[in-house]
Amino acid sequence: MNGRREDPRLERLVDFVVQLAAGDLAARLEPSPAADSVDAVAMGLNMLAEELQVLYSRLEQRVTERTALLEQTQTELRRLALNDALTGLANRTLLGDRIGQALARTERGARPPAVLSLDLDGFKLINDSLGHDGGDTVLVEVARRLRTIARPTDTVARLGGDEFAVLISDTTLEDALRIAERAMEALRLPVQVGDQVSWAGASIGVCCGSRGETADSLLRDADTAMYAAKARGRNNIEAFQQAMHTAALSRAQIADELRTALTTDQLVLHYQPLVELATGRIVGAEALVRWVHPQRGLVWPGEFILIAEETGLIIELGQWVTLEAIRQLAQWQQEMEKPESFRLHVNISPVQFRSANLASFVQRALQWHAVPASSLVLEITETGLMTDEVEIVQTLHDLRSAGIGLAIDDFGTGYSSISYLRRLPIDTVKIDQSLVAGIDTDPRQHLLVAAIVGLIDAVSLRPVPEGIETAAQAAQLHALGCTHGQGYYFGRPVSAGEMTGLLRVDAAQRTVHSDTSDQ
Ligand code: C2E
Ligand code: MG
Ligand code: MG
Repeated sequence: MNGRREDPRLERLVDFVVQLAAGDLAARLEPSPAADSVDAVAMGLNMLAEELQVLYSRLEQRVTERTALLEQTQTELRRLALNDALTGLANRTLLGDRIGQALARTERGARPPAVLSLDLDGFKLINDSLGHDGGDTVLVEVARRLRTIARPTDTVARLGGDEFAVLISDTTLEDALRIAERAMEALRLPVQVGDQVSWAGASIGVCCGSRGETADSLLRDADTAMYAAKARGRNNIEAFQQAMHTAALSRAQIADELRTALTTDQLVLHYQPLVELATGRIVGAEALVRWVHPQRGLVWPGEFILIAEETGLIIELGQWVTLEAIRQLAQWQQEMEKPESFRLHVNISPVQFRSANLASFVQRALQWHAVPASSLVLEITETGLMTDEVEIVQTLHDLRSAGIGLAIDDFGTGYSSISYLRRLPIDTVKIDQSLVAGIDTDPRQHLLVAAIVGLIDAVSLRPVPEGIETAAQAAQLHALGCTHGQGYYFGRPVSAGEMTGLLRVDAAQRTVHSDTSDQ
């Protein structure tokens, strides 16, 4: 120690450096009046602190900006992952989350949520006629309308394609059905696409959740109800019932078994004679598919054709039916004296008519078995034809120009107009059995059928009544001008072998008849 007292400013300098180092960049040193070299150091440190403070706040601002950007990107990513890109509606994942949350709230006393499952009717037609951009415009408009009917607490979602869903939280089935009605009304209004106008009706399934249920099962049940609504003829609302789920399960089982049936020769064709009403002579037959089920025995088409249509199995099934029927026809024709006067009818589903290659498939099958096109008649149901689908109409024209006969099946069940039907290239109209039943007992029914036969005649088509069960019905239909008909009265559907026998008897009777008339 030299005994000299140290300058107190040095101590303050040291404290100041410690303050800065601790992050207090706002601290400053007061210069002394001495204005000597110690003060110069103090001033220098003040400037350094100033500089550091500016740098630091810039850095802080940049960090804040970057963090905000990162959060924005994360929100956007989350939005993209949870929302549908075209309409901005929630997607399946987000809807599932929200249903889960709404169900969880029921544990805390809230009322259950309900889900509306919506599927647009005929959207494929819209896409085909207006193009994909037009289709997108319709989807965006549907999304907008659904948003307007939903409350802010509800979630409107697009599940893909033309499928939408609305989650209504804390509700009752009655309220959910009311909202479904409003959705239906909102969608009924036309949609303007450029200079065209389009309609986007929907089938709606409604299901109310219950405690302990999962989001998946609630959505699945709403879907099941939607399919039931569609099956009832589109533009309908259906509330879910447990029986629908059971039916869906057994449909799935039938579909599985049918898939096996197709590869293991479990299908057979039966044939029902088509006759000349005046004489009862056989002029043709209708091929009707049967399923020889390993456990259940003979299963009728009413149980599996619809399921085959829903699952697309009908294409394979239909091809088998067509090939087998034409093969059998070729075999019968070889035995016949006048094969050209016998026509075999085959039922074709609208789904098959929609597939582009039906006409060429049938033509190839005919050529392969050397059967003339005029010996084959394809039947399509009236309801299958009540559409403007270009594919179906095009296929009808292709088949007709190949010389194949075309019949409308089950006429009178679909309320289509004769004037529409006459524009189609068909030659035969099969009058449904529900119209034929009762003509011999109910005079009004008789009048109705008389009018229908008259109309069919007027547009130069051939009326063929089906489901004739009594001699009286046959006689009356003949008197009304029907030349041909079909029904249990003349013959039930029988196996190919039995049909061969019937054809032989018929041929023998013709020979006897022509022999006696020759004398
Ligand atoms: P459909 O084409 O209208 O065939 C006539 C149906 O009426 C047949 O029922 C036939 O057995 C029944 N039937 C005929 N005469 C009478 C009668 O006098 N009284 C009563 N009560 N019924 C009569 P089936 O064989 O059960 O076929 C039902 C429907 O399934 C057919 O109606 C047809 O739409 C469809 N179908 C049958 N086979 C095929 C097929 O190979 N492909 C397709 N796509 N559909 C088929
Ligand atoms: Mg038929
Ligand atoms: Mg029919």
